Amino acid sequence: MTIFYLVTNIEFVQNPEQPTDADFLQVYKTNGLTEVVYTRDGEVKTYSFNDQDIVKNRTKTVKRILFRFLNEIWQSELPWGFLTGVRPVKMAVNMLLQGFTPEEAQKSLENDFLIAPEKAKLLTDLANKELTLTGRVPTVTDTVSLYISIPFCPDRCAYCSFTSYVYSKNENMVSEYVDCLVKELEYIKEVVKGKGQGIQTVYIGGGTPGVLPPMLTDKLLGAVDDLCTDETIEITFEAGRPEVFNDEKQKIVKNHRVTRICINPQSMDDRILKNIGRNHTVEDILRCFDLAVKNGFDNINTDIIVGLPGETVESFSKNLEALLDLNPQSVTVHTLAMKKKAGLIQNHNAQDIVNNKDVDEMIRMTERKLFNQGFEPYYLYRQKMTVGNRENVGYCKKGFECIYNIQMIGERQTIYGAGAGATGRFVSEDLLITRKTNKKLVDQYIKDIRDGNFGYG
Ligand code: SF4
Repeated sequence: MTIFYLVTNIEFVQNPEQPTDADFLQVYKTNGLTEVVYTRDGEVKTYSFNDQDIVKNRTKTVKRILFRFLNEIWQSELPWGFLTGVRPVKMAVNMLLQGFTPEEAQKSLENDFLIAPEKAKLLTDLANKELTLTGRVPTVTDTVSLYISIPFCPDRCAYCSFTSYVYSKNENMVSEYVDCLVKELEYIKEVVKGKGQGIQTVYIGGGTPGVLPPMLTDKLLGAVDDLCTDETIEITFEAGRPEVFNDEKQKIVKNHRVTRICINPQSMDDRILKNIGRNHTVEDILRCFDLAVKNGFDNINTDIIVGLPGETVESFSKNLEALLDLNPQSVTVHTLAMKKKAGLIQNHNAQDIVNNKDVDEMIRMTERKLFNQGFEPYYLYRQKMTVGNRENVGYCKKGFECIYNIQMIGERQTIYGAGAGATGRFVSEDLLITRKTNKKLVDQYIKDIRDGNFGYG
């Protein structure tokens, strides 16, 4: 039902006490017969099916029937069918590992979840790529990866639903936070070494890691250098906002073992940037990128959000062109997530958000333009409540795939989490996952580390 809410803005109310004038859907069950009744402006449509006809996979079959019925009424573009969940590629990976051919996996995804053929193909292509890049047999016992959280930002983006602290108001905590992080990294280093494992990839994300002052950036990256092993192939520093990643910090980052940086504009339109509460301009983005290239960074990721308020297909097209003119090695295309906690959603009407048809056109445009410029998709994940119920896709030029991103979404490798709110995912040899999340609030995290409460064993 949520899927349809996302594209129609129709609210689903269970057992309303008062009859309402709005569209409504009722489901009756009597003597093995299920009848679905949809009423709109006094017009009634019904669909019924016999429970005996549903012999196996009952839930999925009922979902399929309901989906087809509602889709016929609302004529919605829903290329993901009724598939929900954050990691659809994982399903395709599992099918390939079970011996399905890519064609069989694609057909099965289309038939089981009513996914559009192009999306089912995308999933199987990505699954193939994942297995090629990370191996059919996961390296559970040999290598791990590491995520480091910097939960500070210059200010708060209007669409943000994360726990992130405004740097200027919390400056007093930052130095102690980095000290604790360094302690946690030393601890993780010993645990990993004790298990005879190597660290394959590191991702320093946030928040906005680029907001850290030069000295603390140097200290943190020194600790990261120290825990690298022979197996380490990739260290990403997600600088984030362009206005804070100045020449001095870029030179410091370049002096360490960082192999990949992210500069995150989200839009190349000053009007849209203002709408989403980002206090930087397109000029800042251009300057930051130019500096990064001059400083010798040759693996730069950038990103853009589809569906930001005030965006049209035409303005998005120009933004995307401007982003590609920066000549990045990889581009992440997000779809706006309408998280209730975010200021953007609280302060805007649903009509301000780009409509489903335009979102669809924008996504097709990103696929087309990126493909024409030699980019290929390499990882994908979905979030709840995205406009048009769409996906987030990472594209890159050949050889610039971020292995951390693939491992993190694929869940076939242990990923340690360091810092406030970071989650460690521990994958056993039979691929069972246990999670451990650090305290979300910075003061509580600091207290835990000061008390020697690391939680990894
Ligand atoms: S940069 Fe990211 S974490 Fe920081 S406020 Fe914006 S969306 Fe939130």
